Amino acid sequence: MRKKIVAGNWKMNNDLAETEMFLVELKKQVFPDDVVIMIAPPFTSLNHTFRSLREHPVALAAQNMHQSNEGAFTGEISAKMLKSVGASTVILGHSERRAYFNEDNAILAEKVNTALENQMTIIFCIGEELDDRKNGNHFELIKTQLSEGLFHIADEAWENIIIAYEPVWAIGTGETASPEQAQEMHEFIRKTMAENYSKTIADEVSILYGGSVKPDNASEIFGQDDVDGGLIGGASLKVESFMKIVNSF
Ligand code: PEP
Repeated sequence: MRKKIVAGNWKMNNDLAETEMFLVELKKQVFPDDVVIMIAPPFTSLNHTFRSLREHPVALAAQNMHQSNEGAFTGEISAKMLKSVGASTVILGHSERRAYFNEDNAILAEKVNTALENQMTIIFCIGEELDDRKNGNHFELIKTQLSEGLFHIADEAWENIIIAYEPVWAIGTGETASPEQAQEMHEFIRKTMAENYSKTIADEVSILYGGSVKPDNASEIFGQDDVDGGLIGGASLKVESFMKIVNSF
């Protein structure tokens, strides 16, 4: 079912004490009934966050996981481990994972399979670099990321997928895609899904926009027909700005 979603990706920020300060503030907030709120703290804060928010309507996401279920992969973390500390969702394919940790579409397809096997919800990130956009290659690039990373899944699996369109040139740069650019790409993603699956599946998937979303630009972006919310980096680190974005629909 298509939902309004705001997910905060903390990246490599907030140790346990900083997490606790955030949570104390977050728990004082009134949460809208019609918006799914998610936060993705670092692994070290997942379980504390889960326990702290047990009584609150905030879902917990991890920022990454390994494609294998277990084994000799020093420093890695499995889907089962994430679930055991309360994370029901995982972000896969973030552009920082693709760029700095060599995660290509083939690895991401494996991660998608493992997350689904473990009944996790996936926020699957796609997005073009500035050069792709300048060369007019952005639609083709997005189509390839979708077809190689995600379009092997079965129809039924789509209920566990959230797509996040995050143009790389807008992440952490202060430069946001215009509402029209966001809408144009979200519409294209839905059209591509309809061609590969069905219009029903395409209409039901939630597609988030990510890339320098802030309290002052969120409502215009969220007001676009095919934008169902946002994946928020920097502005999710402070409760005040995060909640202003949550309340921007
Ligand atoms: C992100 O990391 O997914 C993101 C969109 O970051 P920012 O909001 O800081 O651009």
